[in-house]
Amino acid sequence: MSDLRNLYQEVILDHSRAPRNFRSIEGADRRSEGYNPLCGDQLTVYVKLDGDIIQDVSFEGSGCAISTASASMMTAAIKGKTREQANALFDVFHGMVTGERSADLGPEDLGKLQVFSGVSEFPVRVKCASLPWHTLHAALAGEEIATTE
Ligand code: ZN
Repeated sequence: MSDLRNLYQEVILDHSRAPRNFRSIEGADRRSEGYNPLCGDQLTVYVKLDGDIIQDVSFEGSGCAISTASASMMTAAIKGKTREQANALFDVFHGMVTGERSADLGPEDLGKLQVFSGVSEFPVRVKCASLPWHTLHAALAGEEIATTE
């Protein structure tokens, strides 16, 4: 196993053990629920908007290490971004974990989120990693239930 792979695993373990922004938001503008029946991951994403800016974002729920770490790192990555930037990041992240990388944005735009690139080798884990993003996407679109299709 490569050092890089070990580093990636450490980052994922760290975020799954001590998830960032693991709380609800009182008076959230958007709230959406996501469920991944393949693994049993379940989460609620809360978004507080200031105009078009994601002022605050958080999540609650229970899931495996991959989905929890993904939700944790997602909230850290998109706080302070515009809705458009968050949706663009969703597209790149989704392209990475499904192995269909988007053409116009490279992995450099993903920063730390690149730790999930290895997930594309494990089809069962793709939905774990992408569930928080699908749920965020639904929340930003004003939908209360997210689908992972
Ligand atoms: Zn999972």
